[in-house]
Amino acid sequence: MKTVHKEHTLTKNQQIIFDLIDKSPEPMKAYSILFNVQKKGIKAPLQVYRALDKLVEIGKIHKIESRNAFIACHNSSCQMANATAFSICEICEKVTEISSAGLSKYLANFKDKDGMKYSKYNLEFFGLCKKCKVK
Ligand SMILES: [Zn+2]
Ligand SMILES: [Zn+2]
Repeated sequence: MKTVHKEHTLTKNQQIIFDLIDKSPEPMKAYSILFNVQKKGIKAPLQVYRALDKLVEIGKIHKIESRNAFIACHNSSCQMANATAFSICEICEKVTEISSAGLSKYLANFKDKDGMKYSKYNLEFFGLCKKCKVK
């Protein structure tokens, strides 16, 4: 597994897209990113997708597969770009990156019965957040 270097220098497009996702209070859908960056002069969808791929690769953002949405990484101990776990609230759709050393360690050493090890994972846990639970 490769280590992510957070101090990676971003290109202009990557920076614009990262700032957008970083400021968003919730994960941003790809089409919403496209719509918003068009106003900032990035017109070609391909440019946007390329920048998103790169940002995911270097670990600045993560993709929430089930939502086709992107979220900025706020987990300073998040070392692996391709190994992420999120909790998603089934009511308000609040998404939180799970930062659990125990879980990461368990999964890093996890092998299936044939001895296959995994270099990436994308976990999504569904439940009710604190706010929705009390309702
Ligand atoms: Zn992260
Ligand atoms: Zn909730």
